[in-house]
Amino acid sequence: MPKNGDEPIVRVNGVDYRWPKKPLVVVCIDGGDPSYFDRGLKDGIIPNVARFMRQGFNAVADGTVPSFTCPNNMSIVTGAPASVHGISGNFYLDPATGEAVVMTGPELLRGTTIFAEFARAGAKVVSITAKDKLRRQLGKGLDISRGNMNFSSEQADKCTKAEHGIDNVLKFVGMPLPNMYSAELSLFVLEAGIRILERDRPDIMYLSLTDYIQHKYAPGESEANKFYKNLDEKFGRLAELGAVVALTADHGMNDKSKPDGTPNVIWLQDILDSEFGKGDTKVICPITDYFVAHHGALGGFVRVYCRGGRAKPEQIMKLIEPIKGIETVLDKPTICAKYDLPPDREGDVAVVSDRNTCVGASKADHDLSGLEGHRLRTHGGVSEARVPFVISEPIGDVYAKRAKAGALKSHNIFEYALNGAAAH
Ligand SMILES: [Zn+2]
Repeated sequence: MPKNGDEPIVRVNGVDYRWPKKPLVVVCIDGGDPSYFDRGLKDGIIPNVARFMRQGFNAVADGTVPSFTCPNNMSIVTGAPASVHGISGNFYLDPATGEAVVMTGPELLRGTTIFAEFARAGAKVVSITAKDKLRRQLGKGLDISRGNMNFSSEQADKCTKAEHGIDNVLKFVGMPLPNMYSAELSLFVLEAGIRILERDRPDIMYLSLTDYIQHKYAPGESEANKFYKNLDEKFGRLAELGAVVALTADHGMNDKSKPDGTPNVIWLQDILDSEFGKGDTKVICPITDYFVAHHGALGGFVRVYCRGGRAKPEQIMKLIEPIKGIETVLDKPTICAKYDLPPDREGDVAVVSDRNTCVGASKADHDLSGLEGHRLRTHGGVSEARVPFVISEPIGDVYAKRAKAGALKSHNIFEYALNGAAAH
């Protein structure tokens, strides 16, 4: 392993990372649009985040497009764009079978993670996620036998030493198993992180939350403010225990409802079917996962595949471009070049809606009952790809200059936090 003096350097996907001199905790606030911090600061409910911003580093960064959960979590933990790690959605169309496949398998993740490589070099690494769907990819290549941990709050009652590196989690954390659709699913992750930091002082910890609250409540609503106040208290405790705390998000969130409160949707498959005939094209909504009550599988980015031979990408683009609420329509080579995406997991045409609009497939296939009368708030587009980038301690001149010089990417947060803040 290369060394910098006595300090090991860990190389991951072409980037060199310095060994942390104090524990580093990176938190991915799922759906943590920068407007929640803005409102929290105004309302005076997030004093610890305010202190991090003042004394450490604060910026808004570009996340991965499409602005979905899986691609962005994988960008953060690999320190690389989706063209490198391959996870370009929560769902994609397998070109071999023509079937839509969920993208959470570790075999679909290319390259390696910061966790696997630091653990290999002897660091103690802990990864905790709210949604169990992320757990296996986060744990790819991570040796659990040496005190490392990888588990979810969703399935905290099923943890074993052999598979997760920890057992009896509910008793250890002192909280009941949280509901899949609750604020507690996130708060449990943070509380578990605090207990483990207290007891074991791991070198690197990753805490990935869920966006249940942000899908349901806008900044400033009492439920949202209550959640952010609770988050802030936990961030404060992590810092108090001596960790460098780095905060980012996988994506933002926008209200995509009409004035009357109903979802503002472009039903793209229906439009394509009436033009080219049923079965000729296939719209894939890569936001789809089994947490559908959040958003009814409606997001700001979909992929269109040419299946039947009638419609060509140019014709599809020409048909979609003028539709009100569409922001960008790009063919495969252009979207891949512009947003650093893997071509073998891209559709023939990528469609991005604007901040007030979302795109679905066929109206008949989306179940919106989970919204329970709430306005539809969702993400996926370019307008939801701006995320907070906050580090509790100063990052030093080199990284401060680099942040100022060009577009800051959220997938660089481990680099900025390890090399700029935790290495000193
Ligand atoms: Zn998310």
